[in-house]
Parts: sequence; C-alpha cells; structure tokens
Amino acid sequence: MEALIIVDVQNDFCPDGALAVQEGDAVVEPINELASRFPLVVATRDWHPADHGSFAERGGPWPVHCVQGTSGAELHPEIDRSRIDLVVDKGQAPDREGYSGFEDTGLERLLRERGVQTVHVAGLALDYCVRATALDARRAGFEVVVHRDATRAVNVEPGDDERAVSELEAAGARVV
Ligand SMILES: [Zn+2]
Repeated sequence: MEALIIVDVQNDFCPDGALAVQEGDAVVEPINELASRFPLVVATRDWHPADHGSFAERGGPWPVHCVQGTSGAELHPEIDRSRIDLVVDKGQAPDREGYSGFEDTGLERLLRERGVQTVHVAGLALDYCVRATALDARRAGFEVVVHRDATRAVNVEPGDDERAVSELEAAGARVV
C-alpha cells in the first residue's frame, strides 16, 4: 500500500503569499498528476495560531504565515481536491516548530491503519516541511520516495536544497 503526502501547498507559500517560495505554484501540476496514481492521498496544511512561535514578532525565523482560517492558509486553488482523501493540519501548538506532518497529528497511526508501507512525498518546501516530513516517515519505518520535481525549496542559504536531498538520501529515502 502506497500513499502520497502533499505537504503545505498553500497560498502563503506560493507567489504573492506571505512566505512565498520561488516557483512554489510550479508544484501544482506535477502533484495533481501524482495524486491520480495513488490510492491514498493526504494533504498537510501549516495551520498556525495567530501567536505561533515561528513568527518573527515572537522571535521566530518567519513572517506571519498560514494563520488558521485565513485565505493564506488555504490549499492552492488549483490543487485537485477531488483526489485528496484527508487533510492533516500541523503546526497548531504555539511553541512547537511543526515542520513535519507527523508532529502532533496522528498521521503515523492513520497511515498504519490503512496498511501503508511506502510514503511518497511532494510539496513545499523541500528544505523545511518536505524534508522534516520525509525524515519522520523514515524514522517511523516507512519506505519513502521524495518526488523532487514536485517540490521547491526556500534556499535561505544557497544550496539548502542540495543539502536537504543529501540528508534525505543518507536517511534512506529515495529522491526521484
Ligand atoms: Zn509555518
């Protein structure tokens, strides 16, 4: 049993969003294509309270983004909702990072209940939430495939994307 996890393809991470990833919306088309190939598709959303600790005004590294219930926190409008079986909201604890779709969400249990052995990962951003989600999936014992053409990176430091790929491969994930 294989599942696709679509990580955080939300308006705030796409061009004109509060924390836009360069070419973030370029992942939409390959993700819609991928989603048609898997029997179980889960979409995660970064879903922060208004006072989340990752925001600069609270000493965190990021501008305010993906606040619960705002349009910026919604999935990109061109993501094919009809292919998504479940939406998992993450990053809800004010003082926890919440990069990973497995952090405080019950996603691991949900995948096990469905008999999932292999997890495919795509979305935003490669060097943060895709990386953290894929690494946690490996730690939980799943086979992991990261679809690089269906991701984009923030690249706060040049080369963060390549470092993320190396780290994922070292952890036993396949990057295709
Ligand atoms: Zn966030």
